[in-house]
Amino acid sequence: MIAAHETQTACEPAERAPQPQRWVNRYADLGPAFFTRLRAQALPDPQWVAVSASTAALLGWATEGADGADILGPQALEALSGGTPWPGCDPLATVYSGHQFGAWAGQLGDGRALLLGELVTPAGPMEIQLKGGGPTPYSRMGDGRAVLRSSIREFLCSEAMHHLGIPTTRALALVGSALPVRRETLETAAVVTRVAPSFLRFGHFEHFAHHGQSEALKTLADFVIEHHFPGCLEAANPYAALLEAVTRRTAELIADWQAVGFCHGVMNTDNLSVLGLTIDYGPFGFLDGFDPGHICNHSDHHGRYTYANQPRVGQWNLHALGQAMLPLIAGDGEVDEATTELALAALEPYEATLQAALRTRHRAKLGLASAQDGDVALADDWLALLAMERTDHTIAWRRLADFTPADPHPVRDLFRDRAAFDAWAGRYAQRLALEGSPDVERAARMKLANPKFVLRNHLCESAIRAAQGGDFSETQRLLKVLERPFAEQPEHAAYADFPPDWAQTLEVSCSS
Ligand code: AMP
Ligand code: MG
Repeated sequence: MIAAHETQTACEPAERAPQPQRWVNRYADLGPAFFTRLRAQALPDPQWVAVSASTAALLGWATEGADGADILGPQALEALSGGTPWPGCDPLATVYSGHQFGAWAGQLGDGRALLLGELVTPAGPMEIQLKGGGPTPYSRMGDGRAVLRSSIREFLCSEAMHHLGIPTTRALALVGSALPVRRETLETAAVVTRVAPSFLRFGHFEHFAHHGQSEALKTLADFVIEHHFPGCLEAANPYAALLEAVTRRTAELIADWQAVGFCHGVMNTDNLSVLGLTIDYGPFGFLDGFDPGHICNHSDHHGRYTYANQPRVGQWNLHALGQAMLPLIAGDGEVDEATTELALAALEPYEATLQAALRTRHRAKLGLASAQDGDVALADDWLALLAMERTDHTIAWRRLADFTPADPHPVRDLFRDRAAFDAWAGRYAQRLALEGSPDVERAARMKLANPKFVLRNHLCESAIRAAQGGDFSETQRLLKVLERPFAEQPEHAAYADFPPDWAQTLEVSCSS
């Protein structure tokens, strides 16, 4: 006999869509200076390309037992392809400005993003945003669309970064359509649904500061403090405290990027999140061979956003944010030398936070449980070794987990200059002897700090090519692999292999 509660579970449909009462639209309450209300333009004949069950679970949606890309159901397909929004949503595009490639770019804003609203979830209110839902008043010359190619990249990388433990906006769903979109060639349109506690960028602050809208600037800062940094209210100057909190989060985030070999590619101030999340995946790339001067964005002609420059650019962007926040920090008074000093003091922890975060991450990656003099040099010299031979970043770190002084071969074999490797490995072996932890334990620890699977460009490219031919299975399979980047997954060993030769000629630009 079936127990009563089981009967009930079987009869009641699981909640797969948000209920109207679960939407709060706090940003919409800020007033018209901050956004324009509008509807998306629906994609014709939308199809699910992929859905992240893990992001759905974050939202409290029941997907258990459901399988495939259609786990969210037809009503969600309608809403997440830019069709009729769910009851309770108050869709809008926000306005922001920013510095692009170091120069003031003026007003930008959500040119192809639409905030549906904030959904109350077990993890707190989450903004649900469509990207690629058609033009907005901030589209400038753009068509408001996103192509399937770049949407697959954003969808997969958002989820990959999350599962690597790196703060990021999430991706819930990817919907495709035959709608043609013109880029260098004719491509097809897609919409990614992104999820984050907030999509606010440094550029939102810059916008109101640049236009001298001090009331709006204060409203924005108070909103951010109230909902995201309430601890700042305790400080003598809450706005300086906010700047310092953003400084620390940004430093931690960039340390995360450096440690995993992630290159953002377009670190303009409108692409830096106030919450310290990785945001706006465009021409990003994970390093294959370790080249600190690597430029992942084909449109970055001067190499402003190389891997090695990311820490300095983060600091530059924070200074732009600090500049925008000066009137807030000054309060009722004039912006004077004392204000500047307060702002500089708030920015000051950047370098030390970043270096400390990098040291912590490198120590974990080297399998060192304690901190000793010489650890920084050991990590730096290892990276210098990788840089010298352009050794594969992900594979080298992962293989180091299985290094033992008695059997250095799997990692030693990666280097042509065996003498240089042996010299470093001798120091590493001495350092490991000071730790005294058994090799197997250290290897297990290191495998939790050195991912086996990252979203290499060529993996993404293969998924894109299949999807462009109508086969979404590779995108879905790659998502599953990237959800467990630290696990061995021997059945997916090919995804952890060296990139093929054709990967070297792949070019990624801002065109998306
Ligand atoms: P990005 O640097 O790619 O994050 O975008 C910079 C600015 O350009 C933002 O304001 C985007 O909303 C806008 N943008 C980029 N592509 C498009 C597009 N196809 N249509 C409208 N706006 C766009
Ligand atoms: Mg952007």
